Amino acid sequence: MSERQKTDALIIGAGVCGIYMLYRLLNLGLNVRVLEAGAGPGGTWYWNRYPGARFDSESYSYGYSFSKELLQEWDWTEHFSPQPETLRYLNYVTDRFNLREHMLFNARVRSARFDNAQNRWRVELEDGREYECTWLCTAIGMLSAATPPRIPGVERFRGQAFHTYNWPHEPVDLKGKRVGVIGTGATGVQVIGAIAGEVAQLTVFQRRPNWCAPLHNSPITPEEMATIKASYDEIFATIESTPNAFLHGPDRREMKEVPREDRLAFWEQLYASPGFGVWLGNFRDVLMDPESNAEFSAFIAGKIRQRVRDPETAEKLIPKDHGFGTRRVPLETRYYEAYNLEHVRLVDLNETPIEGIDETGVQTSAEHHEFDIIIYATGFDAITGAFDRIQIEGVDGIRLGDKWHEGPVSYMGLQVAGFPTLFTLAGPQSASVATNFPPAIESMVNWTSAFIGYLESQGLHRVEAEEDAEAAWQQEVKSYYDMSLLAQTKSWFTGYNSNVEGHDKLRYLVYLGGAPAYREKLKEIAEAGYRGFRMS
Ligand code: NAP
Repeated sequence: MSERQKTDALIIGAGVCGIYMLYRLLNLGLNVRVLEAGAGPGGTWYWNRYPGARFDSESYSYGYSFSKELLQEWDWTEHFSPQPETLRYLNYVTDRFNLREHMLFNARVRSARFDNAQNRWRVELEDGREYECTWLCTAIGMLSAATPPRIPGVERFRGQAFHTYNWPHEPVDLKGKRVGVIGTGATGVQVIGAIAGEVAQLTVFQRRPNWCAPLHNSPITPEEMATIKASYDEIFATIESTPNAFLHGPDRREMKEVPREDRLAFWEQLYASPGFGVWLGNFRDVLMDPESNAEFSAFIAGKIRQRVRDPETAEKLIPKDHGFGTRRVPLETRYYEAYNLEHVRLVDLNETPIEGIDETGVQTSAEHHEFDIIIYATGFDAITGAFDRIQIEGVDGIRLGDKWHEGPVSYMGLQVAGFPTLFTLAGPQSASVATNFPPAIESMVNWTSAFIGYLESQGLHRVEAEEDAEAAWQQEVKSYYDMSLLAQTKSWFTGYNSNVEGHDKLRYLVYLGGAPAYREKLKEIAEAGYRGFRMS
């Protein structure tokens, strides 16, 4: 075994968050290393190479804002950037700021153990290499622990089969193939819309439909890009002002205050507009009040009926168990129209459940479906899954997985009592996942790196969330769940995943109070001398 390498800081993950944290910690003059499981930077955008993968955020709201030069140098080519372009962008940023030399690739972390006597973290890779640091930062993604379905015989299939997150790096020839897709979340919806026109036969296995809305993507002309570059100050000011750090903020009117004719006209306009406006730019009560939500859901159901020719298929595609926007809204391109194609078929698993997978395809209670390729768009062990896949041990060997067995607890989603000097960037119970990710992580990284800079300047090398502060944050996180319709719906946001043992009850994974309130709290904590943290 090689000698343990010592650094000031280790960052696990070279995605959007890890890249920026590295930049910030290097600026503090620290010796930093990033440990990344992939063969290059990019995180989410490195792994998710499935057809149709692209932003649901406007491209110019997704890029980093920290460097005005970078903003002026980079040209986005589409309003909602496709995965290859985003991956190019993250590689560009990595090289532009000379970050690559501090990154170690093909370096999957197996364990991280806190040495209480030395105040140091010892980190071991799966290949046995060992590292040691003071500051340990996880930037391991919230949707990075893919969960293939627990279906009997899944390993027997002899054709090609992959989870969307592990889509091959080599091109997959779909032309003329018989393809099955399991899962109709934001990923499945992107895949289905993208491949329906190419394959010979497409069968979609749907358990619960989602309320989807059109993305309305389009190219960005050079003139538009010039206007965008000239407007970045306003763009980022808008992002800072909206609850979810998107370009879309809620309409402050109550739906019921607006005459029916006017609200229908407003909804038509939202439905015809690009991006998340239909979800996040709606009347504020649509996501809070069941009656308003039901009325808007009926409006969207009408759209689905208009777009899908076969009425029976249309009915199957309309969710009946939850209202619009109470799960993450998939944005789609020609998704509903795919079902109008002769060779595309929807199998409703509530009527005919999957019994198993065998060498040649999928067996439901009604028939056997033969495939050349099966695509599992079955989602993730969200938010805590990536942590559970690393053995993290704090003071006295306490395991994070054990502490979080009934659901995560944290202080501000940033630290966990009993795990000193570990910063769980964009972790459970932070605001990031409920928001446009990059702006949220930028503010969190700015805050955390400033905190580390402060601690370094004071000669303090141990910091730990206080139990009381953690308990109070837990209550605050819970209180938002009590207010939101989102919390009443089973989804990865609320901790459910049928493919993970025990994830069959509500877990408080996310701070739902919004990005501005979260930022304000961080600011207050810093101004109060980093209240709630024990420093030594
Ligand atoms: P997801 O939303 O959790 O959807 C998983 C789908 O698989 C659901 O339809 C689920 O059905 C189904 N499923 C799981 N196990 C199954 C089984 N054993 N049998 C049948 N169906 C099964 O996962 P996702 O679509 O990958 O999306 C996760 C999140 O990633 C999104 O919400 C979004 O935040 C992010 N994402 C972002 C983008 C973007 O920004 N452009 C694109 C894609 C994804 P049930 O609903 O019945 O459980």
